[in-house]
This record gives sequence, structure tokens and C-alpha cells, in this order.
Amino acid sequence: MTGPRATGAGTIRGGADVKVAVVGAGVVGLAASAALLDRGADVVCLDRAGPMAERSTGSSRIFRLAHGSADLVALARDARAGWARWSEAAGRPLVRDVGCLVSGALTLEWTAVMLKAGAPYTMVGPDWPELGLPVRRAPHVLLHDTTGGVIDAEATGAHLTARVGPALRTSLVYALEERGTGARVHTPDGPLDVDAVLIAAGAGTSPLAAEVGLYTPAGLAHHVRFTFATRQAGPLRAWIDQSPGRLATYQHLAGPGRWSVGGLLDHAGVDWEAGRAEATRMSREAVLGYVREHLDGVAPAVLDELYCTTVAGLGDGFHLRRRGPFTAVYGDNLFKFAPLLGDLLAAAVTEGTEDVVDYV
Ligand SMILES: Cc1cc2nc3c(=O)[nH]c(=O)nc-3n(C[C@H](O)[C@H](O)[C@H](O)COP(=O)(O)OP(=O)(O)OC[C@H]3O[C@@H](n4cnc5c(N)ncnc54)[C@H](O)[C@@H]3O)c2cc1C
Repeated sequence: MTGPRATGAGTIRGGADVKVAVVGAGVVGLAASAALLDRGADVVCLDRAGPMAERSTGSSRIFRLAHGSADLVALARDARAGWARWSEAAGRPLVRDVGCLVSGALTLEWTAVMLKAGAPYTMVGPDWPELGLPVRRAPHVLLHDTTGGVIDAEATGAHLTARVGPALRTSLVYALEERGTGARVHTPDGPLDVDAVLIAAGAGTSPLAAEVGLYTPAGLAHHVRFTFATRQAGPLRAWIDQSPGRLATYQHLAGPGRWSVGGLLDHAGVDWEAGRAEATRMSREAVLGYVREHLDGVAPAVLDELYCTTVAGLGDGFHLRRRGPFTAVYGDNLFKFAPLLGDLLAAAVTEGTEDVVDYV
């Protein structure tokens, strides 16, 4: 069955004319704000650092249908339809349809899930002439998620920022408080009284949610992605490589001649306690080693790095938590789901939702 796992039930005061504060102007908060505005809600979207500043920063992200559950594949298909709508509204493609290849540990499991979900895919081998990977020795078998591709994160941010427009305000939210049937949002410029609050604050979600009695995971980890120059000709695909004996990575063309590689390190070096500098050093060493050994046509010198925090130990999927006028959202790899998430969150805030909903 497609859909969320939910427990509890509740209603929220409001309807289309609800006054909503959205905390966070990353891709999730902006998507939700835009969808709320479309529904006629009175929205203020508050971000301490301005739009797309933390986990949503950077040029690009991978879009894929391939996931570990048929429900997530179905949700990703809905999200892809949302990307098509956003692209039309933005007047430019926000996803480059280059496909996404998956090799190694997840390949068979994700292929079985794609089959079960009725999603389009092919299986390809290392001799496929259209492989489109800058790799020295390609894996024996790869899942080709033909709907996958590369999201233009910068253009997405620009499009959403324009849509949210004057509803966007640069301001810290330092406290939340329940007041009658609504909520008070405390900012350094003074309090705001609203009917509902959506906490979409990325790394800032857990402390704010905890204040209003909502648990969301608080543990963070470091993650760094590195970009290298590539001379590889022809269209390049996105790639998730978990081949045995290699560092698990995700890779894609982040811009012309720019190949980005993120390493999924599983040791203490990227634990929160290790600190950002040490995590960056360890990640750089591991990714550089991978690039030297396994990639072809990619110069083994880091052009730039993109750092962010992640929620420690979370896989794909997303989670909603609600109490009274407050709804909090958390998850990892949320960019690809953004159009769908915006609609789901706007519906949750204006129409009410279960207290606990896990899309996994
Ligand atoms: C290197 C890297 C690679 C990634 N690769 C992929 C990928 O390939 N595919 C994919 O789908 N996803 C990917 N992700 C994950 C994806 O980018 C994130 O899950 C998504 O951007 C999260 O968006 P968000 O809006 O939840 O969080 P954020 O973008 O972090 O937004 C939260 C906002 O809240 C603000 N904020 C926090 N606390 C407060 C406060 N108290 N008051 C006011 N404002 C506050 C912050 O300033 C921030 O702007 C990647 C992330 C990174 C960094």
C-alpha cells in the first residue's frame, strides 16, 4: 500500500485562511510556504540565515525513483510530477533527466522494489555504450533508474524564493509557545501570533520542536561532498556506487566539467564529536583515494567542498510530528521530495494531520 504510516489523530484550527509561521527557508520550508500561499494561507517564512543557506545550499542534488521501499518509490514518482510542474512554472528544467545508476550492495534490493512498484528501470552491464560514468572499471551489473537525474538546486532555490516573495523574512526564531488555540513565535524583532507553526528548520528543528513537546531526532553527523574537474565527454549520469571493497559514494555532474563525489563514511571520523575539521579531513582523504583509484577522466584535486550536517543514522524517507498548532518535519535526502513535501505539509497544516506520520 502506498502512503504513510500514521498514529494518533488530531485537528488543527484554521482552513485555507489560516495564519501560518514556517520556520526555515531551506527547500522544505520554501516548498511548504509556496504551497500554503497557493492555498490562500497568510504565511510568514522565517529563516535565521536567508533562503537555502544550510542543508539546501549548493548547485545540485540527485533525483531518483529507486528507493528501498515501494512506498518511497511511489512517493518519488509523485515528487517527479511535482518537479515537472515546478519546471514549467520556472520556465526552465529543474531536473536534468540523465538517469541514475546504482551499483553494489543496494542494487538487487532496489531492483526488486522497482519491479514491485511498477517503476521504469533497466539493468545494464559495464559494456553498455551509454554508461556515461567517468569510471576506470565499471561494476558488473547496474540498476538504471531511467527517471533519475540531477536537480538544479540553485535554480530551484531562486524559483521558490521568488514564489514566496514578501512572505520571506530573515529572522531567528528563538522560542515557540502555545497560546490558546494558536502559537506565539518569538523573534528578536518581537513576537508573532499565528494559528499554526510548521517547523522545517533542518538542523534547528529538534531544539525548537522539543520546546513544544515534539520529539524529533537530535543527533547530528557531518557530511562533506567534494567537486573535481572532469574532461569526460558526453552526457554523464548520476551514480550511487556501493560496490564491494570500495568507499560507498554518490556522484553526479554538478555543473559543466564539474564532477561531485560524496563519500558515505561509516566510522567515528564523521561522528559529531569528531568535529567539522576532522570530519572534513577524513572525508577528503577517503574521497580522494576513491577518485584516484576508481575514476577515469577526473582530476584528483579538490576544486571545492560542500559541507552540511545530517541527522545521524536516518535513511531515506521523511517524518511528520504534530501537537496542537505545531507540525515538525524531519528526514534525510529531502531535496528530491521537495515538491511533494511542500504539498503534504501545506495540507497537514491547513487540514490537520495524524500526530505521527512516517513516510518510509
Ligand atoms: C552535500 C549534500 C548532498 C546532498 N545530496 C542529496 C541528494 O543527492 N538528493 C537529495 O534528495 N538530498 C540530498 N541532500 C539532502 C538535502 O539537500 C536536504 O535533505 C534538504 O536540502 C534539507 O532541506 P531543509 O529545508 O529540511 O533543511 P535546510 O536547508 O537546512 O533548511 C533549514 C533552514 O532553517 C533555518 N533555521 C534553523 N533553525 C532556525 C531558527 N531557530 N530560526 C530561524 N531559522 C532557522 C536554517 O537557516 C536553514 O536555512 C544533500 C545534502 C547535502 C548537504
